[in-house]
Amino acid sequence: MQIDNLRPLRDVIATHDLRAKKSLGQNFLLDLNLTAKIARQAGDLSACDVLEVGPGPGGLTRGLLAEGARKVLAVEKDERCLPALAEIAEAYPGQLEVVNGDALKVDPLAHLNAPIRIVANLPYNVGTELLTRWLSVPWPPFWESLTLMFQKEVAERIVARPGSKAYGRLAILSQWRCEARIAMTLPPEAFQPAPKVHSAVVHLEALGAPKFEADAGKLSALTAKAFGQRRKMLRASLKGITTDLEDKLEAVGIRPTSRAEEIDLERFCALSRLI
Ligand code: SAM
Repeated sequence: MQIDNLRPLRDVIATHDLRAKKSLGQNFLLDLNLTAKIARQAGDLSACDVLEVGPGPGGLTRGLLAEGARKVLAVEKDERCLPALAEIAEAYPGQLEVVNGDALKVDPLAHLNAPIRIVANLPYNVGTELLTRWLSVPWPPFWESLTLMFQKEVAERIVARPGSKAYGRLAILSQWRCEARIAMTLPPEAFQPAPKVHSAVVHLEALGAPKFEADAGKLSALTAKAFGQRRKMLRASLKGITTDLEDKLEAVGIRPTSRAEEIDLERFCALSRLI
């Protein structure tokens, strides 16, 4: 099924000579039915502005617009992609704004109106950094949801439960203030060029309020220390973080001999309130 009347992405890439650059984490999606399916994971976009980081030749951008996004702000670092994106902007007058720049430096709020959703096939080199930033903004956040492509391993860390190998700081920080789930998994062949790893789309829906009371800075520092030495017992890994550490651990129901990966979100939040 054709999602729009624009040219196939292979033609676009050939015309504009968009050879993928490894340094920019470029692995392009060429199947527009797949990009439309990814866009649908973000829910009804017809009343939303969407921030897309790294549109590249525009496969996901076209998916988002075909799925009815009110407006898309596409932030792309590689200026070679601009002519391809201009073709899409022409087909959707007033709905696509392209900013040539580094997503780590662009302020999306200067361009978008609420409600805002973020959807991106992220460059792997900046993916976790952007996620951590979006999770660290004052709450409630400026965005309603994040629908993001990651390496499958990173996606598994975001949705991980206590007791699993993937469980750590990323799971705590993501699940404290969001419902997080893996919406789709994709094999390497879905991309051009194919990366070495499998990928997954994670959907995070912002909760109105955090699941448990805690100070964001303290929770972040506590989990960094606890999981920084994840094989150690907490009485050792958290040494120096507070006075009377063992009493405080026991006061919130944590055995001082347990390890970080055994502790659920509720108990990490309770401990952060005591330090
Ligand atoms: N969205 C396209 C797709 O799905 O086919 C391209 C995805 S590709 C994995 C990542 C894109 O992010 C590339 O187009 C790359 O140039 C761009 N990019 C890399 N670093 C960036 C940054 N710091 N800010 C904005 N875009 C960036």
